[in-house]
Amino acid sequence: MAHVKFPETFSSFCTGRDNDWDNRMGGRPVQIVVSKDDHSFELDEDALSEILLQDHVRDKNVVIVSVAGAFRKGKSFLLDFFLRYMVTQGSPDWMGSEDEPLAGFSWRGGCERDTTGILLWSEVFLSDLPNGEQVAVILMDTQGAFDSESTVRDCATVFALSTMVSSVQIYNLLHNIQEDDLQHLQLFTEYGRLALEDAGHTPFQKLQFLVRDWSFPYEADYGVEGGEKILSRRLQVSDKQHPELQSLRKHIRSCFSDISCFLMPHPGLRVATHPEFDGKLSDIEPDFKKQLQKLVPMILAPENLVVKEIGGQKVKAKELLQYFKSYLEIYRGDELPEPKSMLVATAEANNLAAVAAARETYTMSMEEVCGGAKPYLSTAHLEAEHQRIKDKSLNQFTNKRKMGGESFSESYKEKLEKELEDLYGQFRMHNESKNIFKAARTPAVFFATAVI
Ligand code: GDP
Ligand code: MG
Repeated sequence: MAHVKFPETFSSFCTGRDNDWDNRMGGRPVQIVVSKDDHSFELDEDALSEILLQDHVRDKNVVIVSVAGAFRKGKSFLLDFFLRYMVTQGSPDWMGSEDEPLAGFSWRGGCERDTTGILLWSEVFLSDLPNGEQVAVILMDTQGAFDSESTVRDCATVFALSTMVSSVQIYNLLHNIQEDDLQHLQLFTEYGRLALEDAGHTPFQKLQFLVRDWSFPYEADYGVEGGEKILSRRLQVSDKQHPELQSLRKHIRSCFSDISCFLMPHPGLRVATHPEFDGKLSDIEPDFKKQLQKLVPMILAPENLVVKEIGGQKVKAKELLQYFKSYLEIYRGDELPEPKSMLVATAEANNLAAVAAARETYTMSMEEVCGGAKPYLSTAHLEAEHQRIKDKSLNQFTNKRKMGGESFSESYKEKLEKELEDLYGQFRMHNESKNIFKAARTPAVFFATAVI
């Protein structure tokens, strides 16, 4: 696999200041993927479950907006404006008052490192799409150091993971889109090619290049139009290019169903260098705020939300947990994973999610037939209901489109069947306990035996 090069850090801003999140926001940043000292990655499954399995969230389709890229380039700073938008539900004055310090994900002017990893905002926002569907919007921050060989792998992992689990990946860059930045993306294009062959679907959804401190507005204007101009120039394929450069560009295009670019102006010297800067709007250049007013709704307004899909199927919050687990599993080894193993992990998570959904259908339907408050059913009647509901659940599993093909999903189907039989055993026992005739007879039999 091509060696990935990362941009230089921007360590000139060593002001050593930090700011904390604010209680008033009703949420906090939660680190769910942590890079350990030995460069292995660990998923905090409890923390992730707490976010994804909340009652009002678990069954909703998800929108996951991630911001990734080198460190100290204003990613968390930007996300805190995303938070303001979501907290105020996009009200016209979502940006807040001029003198309010910016809170949320921790952003800082210092040059000491945060731990590499992935963070989610603990509060999941519900948003109504124009078609009336309510979806769960999750904001994801990533942290990486990009400062030495050993951490290159960590950062690539964080970038890959966040791309795989998000529906919108914002690729945050400073000054320009460089060849290096495109090479970085190449890491996923291989996976994309394989996944495409397998499922006939574009593997990833929206890729949003975000260029910070764009300083050539006379060449391409700030915002989305200027961004498109730069992007088409950078992603242009021409016969004059080296074949490698051509195929890199083609692959990037084929991996995302939507690619766009936005050029942000410099936020002003107070934001970039001032040790006392606390995120107040009054300290930020008007040009920057003007573009922020355009950028944020472009990503988060209900009509622009992108629901997460994997293999062409929408993903629910509770299913996302499985994808996180499977994807993390492939990064356990020392080597960067082969694209092939990413495909297998996706297929695995697909199948496990389908098993879980079918099991839930079975349990819920059986509850309706013979749950707690329901009267006792004869054994034959219960058996017939079990067969009917089991068939329905197995069909649901079979009909759900899964990556990896039929033979791959065969073992999952067998596992499901066994699980359903086990569940049936429990339902049967519960049903028996409701049989008052039997219950009433038992002591009598016992008594008779004892007398004899
Ligand atoms: P992250 O590591 O990418 O999450 O970066 P942070 O959000 O922590 O911000 C790092 C520093 O960059 C802070 O001092 C911010 O005030 C500053 N900053 C935020 N946005 C921008 C920007 O658009 N341009 C520049 N030059 N600095 C920024
Ligand atoms: Mg950050």
